[in-house]
Amino acid sequence: MSEIFLHDVSKTFPDGTQAVKNISLKIKQGEFLVLVGPSGCGKTTLLRLIAGLENPSGGTIQIGEKDATTLASKDRDLALVFQNYALFPHMNAFDNMAFGLHARKVPKDKIEQKVLHVAQKLGLEKLLQRKPNELSGGQRQRVALGRLLARNPSIHLLDEPLSNLDANLRTSMRYQLTELHQEFQRTTLFVTHDQVEAMTLGDRICVMNEGEVMQLGTPAEIYDQPAHRFVAEFFGSPKINLLDGDISGTKEKYCFQQNGQKIIFSSNQSIPEGPIVLGLRPECLNIQKEKSSDSWEAELKRIENMGDIRVLHFQGQDCKITLKSKRNDLQPGQAYHIKPEWKEAIWFNASTGNLISG
Ligand code: ADP
Ligand code: MG
Repeated sequence: MSEIFLHDVSKTFPDGTQAVKNISLKIKQGEFLVLVGPSGCGKTTLLRLIAGLENPSGGTIQIGEKDATTLASKDRDLALVFQNYALFPHMNAFDNMAFGLHARKVPKDKIEQKVLHVAQKLGLEKLLQRKPNELSGGQRQRVALGRLLARNPSIHLLDEPLSNLDANLRTSMRYQLTELHQEFQRTTLFVTHDQVEAMTLGDRICVMNEGEVMQLGTPAEIYDQPAHRFVAEFFGSPKINLLDGDISGTKEKYCFQQNGQKIIFSSNQSIPEGPIVLGLRPECLNIQKEKSSDSWEAELKRIENMGDIRVLHFQGQDCKITLKSKRNDLQPGQAYHIKPEWKEAIWFNASTGNLISG
């Protein structure tokens, strides 16, 4: 079994930096879990703790049935792919991929069989004699991945393995990674700072900020019910609109007030009275001709044509609003009426930033 349990794990470096703060987390057998968060939030440190390359300052790490907190890295049956690939420059691609198997005294014919099998999967058959400096970034990346897959330990740890690749290659590698995971079914922890990678790769996503877990959930949960405004802002492009205001009234007739402006709407959600933050995704807003009690009047400032869709930037009386639309008949400088799909509205506590679920 290769589930990973973290119990109250923390890491403080000698200089006092608290990189990981009391994280408890279970990574299920065979799961593809993506660890995502801004640069410096503690992702690599958490991965290195699981790999046994760092010792925790507190808490325990369990792998399968075993307490692995103080277990040597080589006894954890796992392997890591680093962002910079960490290939041996003097070895060719074949030897780089065979390295972990040699170190474990696997018989030579078996090594050859495994490496060739993986090389074929990754399209590296013709490149096996090349040294890393004779390979492109994408090819090096695949050799590093090949080294992991040739050994194929029960836990795969990947630290931003795609971030040095260009956009096209990243997309095709993403696809290939999901296929390989389906085939190998290994417990996988994949670190990235990229929200698209997180959404498209993860069975579940763990969102970190400043050494803490902000939310753990499926991509749909993370996007539709972000536990905190930080999570809401991290996912989605363009960013979610967050509007500060005050709520009063009840379901049939709520009033959302920002300074002078009052928006009157009805909703099935239970929204508490008082200061609040209203979250509206850019795809959950419509433009209408007529003014209504639940619409904002706003001037269209700028249009970004993305080809398939246009991103429209509006300035209202008390707020900026961004929305996505297929319409091509709108003019900058004109005023329009913007109406939310209220059932898609996401509400946050104004002081804590936590989701208000109702
Ligand atoms: P991420 O991978 O999310 O970018 P890291 O885990 O690398 O973040 O770093 C988390 C925090 O810990 C950062 O503030 C970083 O500067 C700090 N840090 C990482 N490694 C060390 C170290 N060996 N000594 C001191 N501080 C460190
Ligand atoms: Mg990192």
